Amino acid sequence: MPTFNRAEAQRRLDADDGDPEDLVIPVGEPGQKNCYHESTDCGHVVRTIGSVDDSDRQTRSEAQRQGYVPCKQCVLDTYSLEGSQALRLQLEDPEVTSADDIDWEAV
Ligand SMILES: [Zn+2]
Repeated sequence: MPTFNRAEAQRRLDADDGDPEDLVIPVGEPGQKNCYHESTDCGHVVRTIGSVDDSDRQTRSEAQRQGYVPCKQCVLDTYSLEGSQALRLQLEDPEVTSADDIDWEAV
């Protein structure tokens, strides 16, 4: 696991191309950076808050403004898709600093 730092947070934010007005689920996870999630079934959501109701949701832009970063699993899908390994390796590459640097064809 790469250490979570500011650069990693920025890489994740850049990799999230979702609609800023979409509702996401911000979750404060003990001992970790706070992440926002898109899936109510995401393991992090289930473990931390259990069932989700509407008051748990905020827009993506509001969650980002409050310092939440995208969940790797349900927002960025870096572990669940066929191309997950390719994307994960690119996200860990120091040369990749924004979504524009990612070779999405390889993902
Ligand atoms: Zn998640």
